[in-house]
Amino acid sequence: MSRRLAQGFSGGEPSVAASVEAVIALGSNLGDRVAILREAVADLARLPLTGHVRVAPAIESVAVRVDGPDAAAPAYLNTVALVATRLAPSVLLSYLHAIEDRHGRERRERWGDRTLDLDLIAYGDLQSLSPRLVVPHPRAAERAFVLDPWLALDPDAELPGVGRVADLRARLEGDR
Ligand code: ADP
Ligand code: MG
Repeated sequence: MSRRLAQGFSGGEPSVAASVEAVIALGSNLGDRVAILREAVADLARLPLTGHVRVAPAIESVAVRVDGPDAAAPAYLNTVALVATRLAPSVLLSYLHAIEDRHGRERRERWGDRTLDLDLIAYGDLQSLSPRLVVPHPRAAERAFVLDPWLALDPDAELPGVGRVADLRARLEGDR
């Protein structure tokens, strides 16, 4: 957006949209998972109006199917990225889908195997329940493979409207 377009119409100082911290969960259980996650992080760093990308060390987790964990399915590699962005949340989600597509994501079944899954876990303190975008992500609080990498980056993190990530993690039974 040009500086002129970003200016408010109330007179006075130009107002440029402030950066918001977005929390993005990355997962892969097909193909060269390490390379796919690395390239996806590079893709995030190249997004317009987006910077300060920080990424947690990846962890491995058992695939979760519609009917529960499945140790026989290919295991996931998961991580979390924190980015500072001035993209609107719906625009950011569209870019995340484009990055998934670029890495060969196919959508055949819910929670099926995938080369790359990018979920928008939180967008600042926004709480939004629209059909196309739900933030915070409704299942984040139950997913150790989201909470653990997020805590590694930010031990004081909060899931907006839900609670401290450290407390949510402590409430989860067992390990991932
Ligand atoms: P899943 O990750 O649950 O296996 P998908 O990645 O295919 O499934 O996403 C299912 C739909 O959820 C997508 O069409 C996407 O637009 C929508 N969606 C809504 N809110 C979010 C969010 N916060 N992050 C990611 N996808 C979301
Ligand atoms: Mg997804």
